[in-house]
Amino acid sequence: METKNVIFELRTKKGLSQEELAQKVMVTRQAVSRWENGETVPNTETLKLLSKEFDVSINTLLGDPRQLVCQCCGMPLEDGIISHNGDGTLNEEYCKWCYADGTYTYSNMDDLIDVCVKHMVNDKFTEEQARSYMKQLLPSLDYWKRYEELSDNGQFEAFKEQLIKEINDLHIEGLPKVEKLNALVGSYVNLGYPLPNGKTVKFLMFIEKYSIVIPEIFLYTSLTNKTKGDKNI
Ligand SMILES: [Zn+2]
Repeated sequence: METKNVIFELRTKKGLSQEELAQKVMVTRQAVSRWENGETVPNTETLKLLSKEFDVSINTLLGDPRQLVCQCCGMPLEDGIISHNGDGTLNEEYCKWCYADGTYTYSNMDDLIDVCVKHMVNDKFTEEQARSYMKQLLPSLDYWKRYEELSDNGQFEAFKEQLIKEINDLHIEGLPKVEKLNALVGSYVNLGYPLPNGKTVKFLMFIEKYSIVIPEIFLYTSLTNKTKGDKNI
């Protein structure tokens, strides 16, 4: 589909007039009309605004000229699974499981491979095959190439270590010693959980085998220093 049709469809689906869309992306109504007639295409800055307004990738606005692939896990990207930046704009580099609100989920390639392999195994693809496929694919993706830079020189790893220590120091009854924090993948990523104080926390991590305790653990980790010591939260 061409840009003119894409914009027309998105605009009408959202019930906006040309005038209303023009105001939202700071152009004249005539400009919108010219896009939809195919006389011009929006400039780069306007494409970014349109992408945010419609929550679709710039790639989609341009009529899908390239196949987007998550640069962390290699998954083909469609608008519904593209990640967002903290300011609500789409980040076309990553899927929503690998990147969320400015945070990268994976800091260890082997952890990611473990997660992916579980979803890839079927009658035609053995675990061994899936594993070797991922081992070959991942190092060619931008995220892993730039990993050192993106991981804040190990700060994220240090944060996880600190979190594990703090959780263990709580000595929660019945909770075995926490050795490792893993990224949560699946439909619960980015699930917001409202707190009594009106704030919302997001579930990004869980402890292997003890996903039931996620809310308590993650709430604990999300609160301020003052409330951190309260085991009942
Ligand atoms: Zn991904």
